[in-house]
Amino acid sequence: MPTYTAPTRDARFIINEVLDLASYNNLPGFESATPDMIDTVVNEAGKFCSEVLAPLNQVGDKEGCTRHEDGSVTTPTGFKDAFEKYRESGWGTIAQPEEFGGQGMPHVLGFVVEEFVGTANQAFAMYPGLTGGAIAAITAKGSDEQKETYLHKMIANEWTGTMNLTEPHCGTDLGMIRTKAEPQADGSYAITGTKIFISAGEHDMAENIIHLVLAKTPGAPNSSKGISLFVVPKFLVNEDGSLGDRNTLECGSIEEKMGIHGNSTCVMNYDGAKGWMIGEEHKGLAAMFIMMNAARLGVGIQGYAQAEVAYQNAVAYALDRRQGRALSGPAEPEAAADPIFVHADVRRMLMDAKAYVEGMRALALWGALQVDLTHKGATEEDRAKADQIISLLTPVIKGYGTDKGYDVATNMQQVFGGHGYIQEWGMEQFVRDSRIAMIYEGTNGVQAMDLCGRKLAQNGGAAIQTFFATVDEEIAAAKDIEALAPFAEKLEKALGEQKAATMWFMQNAMANPDHLGAGAHHYMHIMGIVSLGLMWLRMATVAQAKLDAGTDDAAFYETKLATARYFGDRFLPDCGSLRRKIETGSDSMMALGEDAFLTAA
Ligand SMILES: Cc1cc2nc3c(=O)[nH]c(=O)nc-3n(C[C@H](O)[C@H](O)[C@H](O)COP(=O)(O)OP(=O)(O)OC[C@H]3O[C@@H](n4cnc5c(N)ncnc54)[C@H](O)[C@@H]3O)c2cc1C
Repeated sequence: MPTYTAPTRDARFIINEVLDLASYNNLPGFESATPDMIDTVVNEAGKFCSEVLAPLNQVGDKEGCTRHEDGSVTTPTGFKDAFEKYRESGWGTIAQPEEFGGQGMPHVLGFVVEEFVGTANQAFAMYPGLTGGAIAAITAKGSDEQKETYLHKMIANEWTGTMNLTEPHCGTDLGMIRTKAEPQADGSYAITGTKIFISAGEHDMAENIIHLVLAKTPGAPNSSKGISLFVVPKFLVNEDGSLGDRNTLECGSIEEKMGIHGNSTCVMNYDGAKGWMIGEEHKGLAAMFIMMNAARLGVGIQGYAQAEVAYQNAVAYALDRRQGRALSGPAEPEAAADPIFVHADVRRMLMDAKAYVEGMRALALWGALQVDLTHKGATEEDRAKADQIISLLTPVIKGYGTDKGYDVATNMQQVFGGHGYIQEWGMEQFVRDSRIAMIYEGTNGVQAMDLCGRKLAQNGGAAIQTFFATVDEEIAAAKDIEALAPFAEKLEKALGEQKAATMWFMQNAMANPDHLGAGAHHYMHIMGIVSLGLMWLRMATVAQAKLDAGTDDAAFYETKLATARYFGDRFLPDCGSLRRKIETGSDSMMALGEDAFLTAA
């Protein structure tokens, strides 16, 4: 059975040393995140996830969820108890607003907990994860009454939340949704329609489920401009907060799917269910985007979370499994063979995983800091800069993060050879579970178009210029430090490739928008690599300073420097070939017509 140990040392390194969270303690909420508090949260969350959630991961995969004839759903053995413990420990409350029962601490800490929970058990993590997205939308767009009615219970995880966008005929193009919302005399709406693929749509772990549903009011434009957002509880809520009648909605079936079997993916049927509009009519997509942005970052975390647990188990296997001899001569001549860890090709896979996972963790936590600074930054300028950075990084963390996370998970399976393909080792589950992160919350193709089609051009390219200026500045500073200069020069070259690709889009995409579509995926990957490069530069800078000052944890910092060097050697050069692909445009990609794709009999 695979095991998981939460990477608490690495998380503390990023929070305390790289992000230097203590330096923000003049901002609201940050003052309570003292070093002691950070240690406690990180260590206790790590323990909970390793001991309680990880052992249920294979159970959830094997048992899946069961729908009963009355539409109720039972989660796998142990999930309900584990959720009770999760609720009691308050893991879901860390970064939530204090006025509704949250702890009001920085999102950085909330993200760390989310990572550990998702690494230990992704299917489980989705129940509180989607609740977090629904909380974000109600907090931002709900009326005071809606906030009072739902947020306390949802933040306490007594009630969970869902997001209902997808319908059988539309997922990406939500302008086509058919679910109807008929206004009622009492100010509510009657919601009728079918939603599919609704994660955590029905289950037995909470007393109420709060569905956020996209629907169209009568006469609404037949496009994304006609969508409104509604809160539709499973049980109606009485004025005193107690539960009232069962609403007319139910889970029609559970999807049989490739992975995350412990999460109930439901077809949800709404039959005149009572709902209330959130925010303004026809502005539902904007409200839903708040939820989706929170969820997109959460899915980005899933990408490196599955890679982390697969990596941990692959390292253990590589040290144990003996095959062949090291090319440089036997490493352990007295044994029948050397551990496969000695082979450079195995090391390639492990180093790729290490460089990616630790870099992504730093990027996601830097992103989490921007989420906080967007609201709490000391000056208008700080808030605007944070907003630009996180809006640019969100599709990258989600899209690049999960593409590469899946890639790493399959490589970790590869380390196991044939045994990786056998269920009992658990590696194939990590591959299956990580696959979904590339698809939901907007496919990665959609993330790439969001980055290139919207974010690059927004406000005259202000966000990407801010990003370039940040990377340029840090490269310039690192070039003055002898030990870091070689890495800084490699990052400078990669950044140059990104700047050139950006310029190529500016010069060519207006004339032919397919040029943008044809290069968007590659651009998202260039930006992912450069962003991780920035993170490795920061981590290496801290590590070098610690070593120069003298430390009793030298091995940790030397490992960081070695991993940064590997990243510089093996990741950064890819930006050149990605840029060259972009510059070929869409001509060869779009040249053939339908007939050429159809196989002749
Ligand atoms: C396990 C699971 C859980 C899910 N959970 C939820 C949930 O909780 N709530 C919810 O509402 N939905 C959920 N979904 C739905 C998910 O978000 C959608 O499947 C996803 O957004 C893609 O929509 P689609 O499946 O209709 O694919 P389509 O939109 O049909 O896309 C098919 C392909 O075409 C590409 N494509 C489509 N449009 C464009 C374009 N304009 N430009 C370039 N490429 C394009 C896509 O990238 C994709 O490769 C879940 C799905 C699964 C499988």
